[in-house]
Amino acid sequence: MANIGYIQVVRHCNHFCGFCSNPTTPYTHDFESMKLLVDDFVRREYFGVILTGGEPTLHPELPRICAYAREQGLHVRMITNGHRLADPSFARAMGNAGLSLVHVSIYSVRPEVEAELRGMEGTLERAFAALDNAHAEGIDVNINSVINRLNADHLDLSVRTLVAQHPFLHHFVWNNLDPSMGRAEVNQDEFTPRLADFELSLHRALRFLHRSGRTFRVEKVPLCYMADWAWASTETRKIVKGEERIVHFLDQKQTVRQTDWEHIYSESCDVCSLRTICGGLFDRGEGYDPAELSPVFTDRDAVVKAIIEDPADPSYALRDLEIWRADFSRRLEQQRSAPRRPRGARDEPPPEMRAPGAPTVGQVTPRGERLYQAKRRSEAQKAARAGLELERSKEQHD
Ligand code: SF4
Repeated sequence: MANIGYIQVVRHCNHFCGFCSNPTTPYTHDFESMKLLVDDFVRREYFGVILTGGEPTLHPELPRICAYAREQGLHVRMITNGHRLADPSFARAMGNAGLSLVHVSIYSVRPEVEAELRGMEGTLERAFAALDNAHAEGIDVNINSVINRLNADHLDLSVRTLVAQHPFLHHFVWNNLDPSMGRAEVNQDEFTPRLADFELSLHRALRFLHRSGRTFRVEKVPLCYMADWAWASTETRKIVKGEERIVHFLDQKQTVRQTDWEHIYSESCDVCSLRTICGGLFDRGEGYDPAELSPVFTDRDAVVKAIIEDPADPSYALRDLEIWRADFSRRLEQQRSAPRRPRGARDEPPPEMRAPGAPTVGQVTPRGERLYQAKRRSEAQKAARAGLELERSKEQHD
């Protein structure tokens, strides 16, 4: 299976998004501690690794760990705000290090909206330059976007504009805001959309991409808000294919092995035809309301077939619907008998979600602690200027 793991290489950032779900911590990585995690993915026969953060390009040894992962045979990807990739020499360094794919995060093509969401001016121009620089270095470029209250009504405008200006863009990923963690948790009213706020613009964006032969994935959106495109839901694809995802968080959560997506459903889900392959609302804290869900009655097997027969993913083995059904029933049975995560266990994953024998993720050093305290002070000022709350500190978590 095409499993891909995540390594948070830093947890600080040069932007200040009011809904950041992975804000600064005192944990830091050096090359050796990142290398251990890469080796772990190689041992597990993972297909690739995604270097993320915080803002991963702020790690001084990013090109080196990228080159190492590539030498071990991993497909290396990165999620970035594009700020440093706007510098052509940095884009060249990453291309030379073997970076195959970069996800550049852009929330809106409206400069005033992007500036408000990023907590600073001028980020859009740099992100646009990053797209062109990475493309010029032969790195595949995707767009990542967090769906939130401020961009919810014009997702389609953003897609059309980006494609018109950068026609080489072929894949888009949307992530619905996760209001259960970090800064997003304490600024829910400012940024959490209602699901109906983005339903139409998301549909228009996906239809435009589909008609133009481009591809896309959507994360954390219940299928009743994207029923025509259910096969493009990241969680549905993982549920159908039984894939796992390991995330090495650079915080106290450490390694989380996600095989169960902590779904929350409503009564209406009981009669929904997509119930068994839908991620529902996940464990989104109290940010979304189960009353926003409504059952659909489309053909589940048609969605499953679109996923298991996808020619773009030849690695999936069970391409016959009957064989898939038998395997899926077995997995559902296994899941039903597994221990459940207690409600309220928000920051510490339960033991069964930790990879057995996983290496320690990063370290807290006196220097890391000093940098963390300095970063907290500067971010507190940024939050005050923007009229936002700062996420709970590690002391408040302890
Ligand atoms: S009603 Fe429930 S199961 Fe059906 S698509 Fe919506 S969230 Fe998923």
